[in-house]
Amino acid sequence: MDERGILNATPTQLLIGGGWRDGSAGRLPVEDPSTGEVLCEVADASAGDALAALDAAAAAQGAWASTAPRERGEILRRAFDAMIDRREELALLMTLEMGKNIGESRAEITYAAEFLRWFSEEAVRISGRWSNEPSGAGRLLTMKQPVGPCLLITPWNFPAAMGTRKIGPAVAAGCTMVVKPAKQTPLSMLALAGILTEAGLPDGVLNLIVSSKSGSIVAPLLADQRLRKLSFTGSTEVGRLLMEQASGNLLRLSMELGGNAPYLVFGDADLDAAVEQALIAKMRNMGQSCVAANRFHVHESVAGEFARRLTDRMGRLRTGRGTEEGVDVGPLIDADQRSKVAELVGDAVDRGASIELGGVVPPGRGWFYPPTVLSGVRPGTRLLREEIFGPVAPVAPFSSDEEALAAANDSEFGLVAYVFTRDVKRALRVVEGLQSGMVGLNKGLVSNPAAPFGGVKQSGFGREGGFEGIEEYLATKYVAVDL
Ligand code: NAP
Repeated sequence: MDERGILNATPTQLLIGGGWRDGSAGRLPVEDPSTGEVLCEVADASAGDALAALDAAAAAQGAWASTAPRERGEILRRAFDAMIDRREELALLMTLEMGKNIGESRAEITYAAEFLRWFSEEAVRISGRWSNEPSGAGRLLTMKQPVGPCLLITPWNFPAAMGTRKIGPAVAAGCTMVVKPAKQTPLSMLALAGILTEAGLPDGVLNLIVSSKSGSIVAPLLADQRLRKLSFTGSTEVGRLLMEQASGNLLRLSMELGGNAPYLVFGDADLDAAVEQALIAKMRNMGQSCVAANRFHVHESVAGEFARRLTDRMGRLRTGRGTEEGVDVGPLIDADQRSKVAELVGDAVDRGASIELGGVVPPGRGWFYPPTVLSGVRPGTRLLREEIFGPVAPVAPFSSDEEALAAANDSEFGLVAYVFTRDVKRALRVVEGLQSGMVGLNKGLVSNPAAPFGGVKQSGFGREGGFEGIEEYLATKYVAVDL
């Protein structure tokens, strides 16, 4: 299918109670970030539409909770198969709306689909416990039940995977849901909703709304007592605001928020591996990833060599429209994101950093920013503290393990950290001391549907994937049994 074909085949309306319908707030444009041109328009939901979506989710909750776990799992499994069968067209759709290169989009579709497969397998493993009271007098019975209707809010950077990480466990646990993707990238989620419907998901279990004014449609949902959970992936700033709004109804919360990943390279590291993995940790998604290596702390004995090799590898990446085979680096998502990246690079240079590569906004259409390497980045520079969300690699030297660990932990964020060393004792000491929810040990990619993804500190709480992922959607009921 070509670009126009896949756009024409993708639903552009809201999905409420099993029916596709227009939005009461009109339509909103979806742009191609590599050209700035409008790809298509999708329905724009009002607060009334959002409440209608919650009506549908609440009405479907009882029957869905009592649907056989095997049946819930098989719907997910069929949706997994359909995503894999349609990987090529789904990848093209994602590249069109988000900009990442087509190879990365294919990889994300597979990654996203794998959450559906993983949770199809977890659906039938929800269990409770039967145990003795310590006194032996009675028995303790615990059971797991779905928390109830959920609101799932996702960002634009991984338009499919951030959805399936939530939808998979919610479906498996027996929860109904209202899904709200980011307005820049609603198409992948609309296509996914179509796939889940075709896979047999009953009406009202998954409702999908898109809005040009998220705040105005989300607030009424959070204030409605029928909603029982919010799972949010996005910035720490918005996460904090939503936590405040969710406090009125004491909602169950999962918060997957911003990151500021340190990438530590010790003097004994395999430098070839550290550079190759750095490309993945830094350049996946043009650096627009919560787990992107934000700052490279490199031992002074190898900092110069590391920066030289990284500059060489990043300098060989090809920038362009992500739909073209052979393109490594697509555009950033929009003008604001590009301005922010340029501002952070400007600040680093003002404070004494040297530009080894890139650092200049190119002329022409689209929100492109070149792969950039900065050396000699000084303490206090903004991009050591703030999430860059762009293809910029700042390299700062350190002289001891203690200094490296202190620099790594000197952040309000704690999502992931990367450690490169061949010394087992050092590796384990550093891994233990890192304040982060995840660590890549001699590895630049941690994401895996079978692993618990999530952060500490202001990167949030809750885990997605792994055995932990489904627990976010289950409530424990305890029964005191008198024999
Ligand atoms: P964002 O601005 O916080 O938006 C995330 C989602 O929240 C979008 O759907 C957005 O909708 C919605 N939203 C924004 N303001 C809202 C409000 N006042 N009320 C209700 N909803 C609101 O984040 P982003 O720029 O899309 O994504 C980048 C951020 O996500 C980064 O900080 C990144 O680190 C983080 N992230 C974290 C993880 C993780 O697993 N920890 C994964 C991926 C990304 P609209 O955009 O349509 O307004």
